[in-house]
Amino acid sequence: CQTLGNFSLSITLPLYFITVLQKGLKENFADAEVSVVDCPDLTKEPFHFPAKGICGKPRIADVGGVPYLIPVAQTEKVYDLNTVAKEIELPGAFILGAGAASSKILGVNAELIAIVQSKSEKKPAVNGSYVAQINPADKGCLLEKYSSKYNDCEFGLLANLYASEGQPGKVIEVKANGRTGELNFVTCLRQTLEKHYGEKPVGMGGTFIIQKGKAKIHIMPTEFSACPLNTDEDVNNWLKFFEMKAPLICQTVFVSRDPGFDLRVEHTHCFSHHGEGGHYHQDTSPDSVQYLGYLLPAEQLFRIDRPQETHLVGRD
Ligand SMILES: [Zn+2]
Repeated sequence: CQTLGNFSLSITLPLYFITVLQKGLKENFADAEVSVVDCPDLTKEPFHFPAKGICGKPRIADVGGVPYLIPVAQTEKVYDLNTVAKEIELPGAFILGAGAASSKILGVNAELIAIVQSKSEKKPAVNGSYVAQINPADKGCLLEKYSSKYNDCEFGLLANLYASEGQPGKVIEVKANGRTGELNFVTCLRQTLEKHYGEKPVGMGGTFIIQKGKAKIHIMPTEFSACPLNTDEDVNNWLKFFEMKAPLICQTVFVSRDPGFDLRVEHTHCFSHHGEGGHYHQDTSPDSVQYLGYLLPAEQLFRIDRPQETHLVGRD
């Protein structure tokens, strides 16, 4: 039986909202511009998503959690994005996000870059997700389209998801160039919201492109750790870190603060068209980096299968 928590997130007038975000970004980037635009057609380059937009009943789902991965992986924890869509009361939702692939399906542990039009009464699911794993041949990144090998919509252990009806419509365009501060793009946006809205949680999700520069990205090893991972240091020694090149197309979900649901407050996974992808930490080329994002605040957040025993290790 899954636990399901649901609460409404604070959303405010777009005009005020974009002023807040732009001001926050300018404290961490040389240039920043936030505006309301029509969502670009996400079925086109460079996205090639199965839905045109990220609009219509925007929702966030935090499924499972890091405590199912560490200290010891609970590989029986598997989920289905079609089921998640029903649980968040949005069957047929277009879902973007960051999670772990189902090791039961793949036979190995891997990063899931979730991009799924879930199934509805009218249409079957379209899985546009990518999987990033460690290539056993050269220990490099192996990025593959999920649908090239599998035809399900499963994932394992944990995922942070942004769901909507996948409609075109108005979205918040965020441009930031030249990083001058220490924060990554997502943490900067999240902390800006936290500073501004305090105890009221505000959550956002969508997609952004690292257009220029390089980024620090991790991929989990194909094998779960044989020894328990008890500290952040253990986790960082287990993960494989890479410097990957732009353009990287990143799926992100973040919540300004955890109102007590044991949330992962930010999580971003990226793919590319040059064989690289994984979990985003930070750009490594602050001077030349260019970010371009399309995001929306979510109206509701759903907490699904919250771990009963928890900790704060490995949430970076
Ligand atoms: Zn991740």
